[in-house]
Amino acid sequence: MTVGAEAPSRRVDEATWGAATDELVETVRELIRIPSINPPPRDAADGELIAARRIASMLEAAGLIAEVVEPVPGRGSVHARLRGDGSGGAPLLLLSHLDVVPAPADRWSHDPFAADLTDGYVYGRGAVDMKAMVAMELAVVRLLAAEARAAGLDPARDAIPGLRRDVLFTCTADEEAGGMAGARWVAENRPDWLRGAGALNECGGVSTTIAGRRLYPIQVAEKGFAAYRIAVRGTWGHGSMPRDDNAAVLAAAVIERLAVPGPSRVTPVMARFIELARAALPADAGRLLDGLSDEDPGRAEAAIAAACDPMYARALRALVRDTISPDVVHAGVKYNVIPGDAVVEVDCRVLPGTTEDDMRAQVIERLGPELAAACDIELIVYGAPVEAPAEGRLFDLMVESIRDHDPDGIPLPVMVPFATDAKHTDTLGTPTYGFSPLRLDPDERFLERFHGVDERVAVDALRWGLPVLYDVVRGFCG
Ligand SMILES: [Zn+2]
Repeated sequence: MTVGAEAPSRRVDEATWGAATDELVETVRELIRIPSINPPPRDAADGELIAARRIASMLEAAGLIAEVVEPVPGRGSVHARLRGDGSGGAPLLLLSHLDVVPAPADRWSHDPFAADLTDGYVYGRGAVDMKAMVAMELAVVRLLAAEARAAGLDPARDAIPGLRRDVLFTCTADEEAGGMAGARWVAENRPDWLRGAGALNECGGVSTTIAGRRLYPIQVAEKGFAAYRIAVRGTWGHGSMPRDDNAAVLAAAVIERLAVPGPSRVTPVMARFIELARAALPADAGRLLDGLSDEDPGRAEAAIAAACDPMYARALRALVRDTISPDVVHAGVKYNVIPGDAVVEVDCRVLPGTTEDDMRAQVIERLGPELAAACDIELIVYGAPVEAPAEGRLFDLMVESIRDHDPDGIPLPVMVPFATDAKHTDTLGTPTYGFSPLRLDPDERFLERFHGVDERVAVDALRWGLPVLYDVVRGFCG
């Protein structure tokens, strides 16, 4: 199916889009003002529940039936279902999370929870991760419900005009801490909230301008993770007589050996990304991408550094290798006591095709037999990589909708280096895509806004993204 001139959004009048965009911006601001911080602070422990209940009341105002669950006190998730006529197959899931990471205000130029609207931007924690997408998905649901009401139907019970499959709308708590009190609980206890023919989730579909070309990476894969606690055994002693087996010294060697980038491995999704980006970019920039797969990490690094801004280079570097980041170090009790114990915790992110056993073996190999013998390696947490097909009707509709609304835009599949709630929908067999369409200013440092200071989203980006999302939903469900 081609969206093209038949795009469903073209059949909605300008006034309706204007009103829907205004309401969308106000919803983003209202959600930002609810500090749904994870981990929940003691003085605002029920932010996610307040956000879930607020969204439930908006769904009910649209004529829908909303359900809120609270598996852990204060941790709320919310769900509603819009019905199709049942002839089109399994549902489409609109997935999002309600929680945000903390935002220490000292380096922000705006109060992170005031949702200031300045110079065309809404500022606040959650603006991009991911209350803008919560509100965009809600806006699509509201439009569909309004269309049912306009046809004299009851959106809570009747099929929405033109929908052949159901649309599930689910916002979860606890994504930022793994989803035990959110998507994982929902997957285990209310799988009907998450099971479908496909899901649209956070991150992908956002424009990225490289060498003057506007790329729209659609997230079809996510790396997995394996965090390890490495206990380093040395010998306690008197600081006046230094020892080689000082556990702090050994821990330093552990960090030094683990922190260097390993060899690259280009997975099929990233090979496709590189191929399409190479074809789209000017020749010089395109050629540099070939260096990404160079077996020599030094040459690959140089190619990445030359190809793009350090913000994208960090992401690209992580997407073509298993990575290890030593993030916690503990050793020592007093300046004149040689520590006999140290702990190093490392965050490993694995490509599709790398198992937990493989990752552990890589860590041990890097340490070498002598140092490894002084270490006990314990797994803290593991999550497998996830992949959805970079083909098929839903993927094609995302590509077509972007091209339709931005003829110069270049959609392409990509993996992301981090994990989302997709790891939970994956357990139910729901192919999950990062697709929260936003067309950004070329200079907007989007990746640095995630969990960063002065997180913000442009009103124009929301205005562009809403019909793009609407067309994918209508196209897939129609
Ligand atoms: Zn997020």
